[in-house]
Amino acid sequence: MTVRVQFLGSGNAFSDGGRANAAIHVTAPGVSLLLDCGGSALPAIKKHIDPATIDAIAVTHLHGDHFGGITFLVLEQHFAGRKKALVAGGPPSLEQRLRAAEQALYPDFFGPTALGFPFTTVVLGATPTVIGGARVTALPVRHVRLAEPHGLRVEVGGKVIAYSGDARWTEHLAAVAKGADLFICEASFFDRDDPAHISYRQVMAHRAEFEAKRIVLTHLGAETLAHLSELELEHTADGTLIEI
Ligand SMILES: [Zn+2]
Repeated sequence: MTVRVQFLGSGNAFSDGGRANAAIHVTAPGVSLLLDCGGSALPAIKKHIDPATIDAIAVTHLHGDHFGGITFLVLEQHFAGRKKALVAGGPPSLEQRLRAAEQALYPDFFGPTALGFPFTTVVLGATPTVIGGARVTALPVRHVRLAEPHGLRVEVGGKVIAYSGDARWTEHLAAVAKGADLFICEASFFDRDDPAHISYRQVMAHRAEFEAKRIVLTHLGAETLAHLSELELEHTADGTLIEI
């Protein structure tokens, strides 16, 4: 079975290079799962796919460039007449943070209005959860503690897609990537030693430890974008489609 992975948003929090925030669409027969849904994800989604085709969202951590677009997607889907359920899976505080975002952004809608479709949340963890037709496992990584950071392992059609979310290099990140058919790794920086993010240089230094069959870089920041021609690993732009 061919699994399609489309990078609708390949940018960092600052949309360096004009890129949209994180939004990665994983599809296969019976599977439609969005990995992260950053603040600017909705226009990026609509540029490439019909939002109605998304069955679930798996969130790596609670930073706005990774989950801030969910509220807009839910609002849009309500007015688009969606009836099909939407599930958002993520860290323990996802539910609370979504409710807070809804009340901060559209208190006149969320609460007074009954959503036209079931929208539920589920906490992802080390035990696999089936959402959007895929088996999803969330393993803790090191990023910014309050954001409850996790890396994801997504099992689809016998393939494993691993996704770093935002993370600095630790053995926890290697555990996320281990044996994956595709490891989607952030590269906010080219060679900066940042306490919250792994750099391209560090990805290269630890490449063997990830034990991944294929590595692709996303979440590219200005420093990495300035060195694009030097990257020895696959890297994404908004719209990049990979098949595994
Ligand atoms: Zn982050």
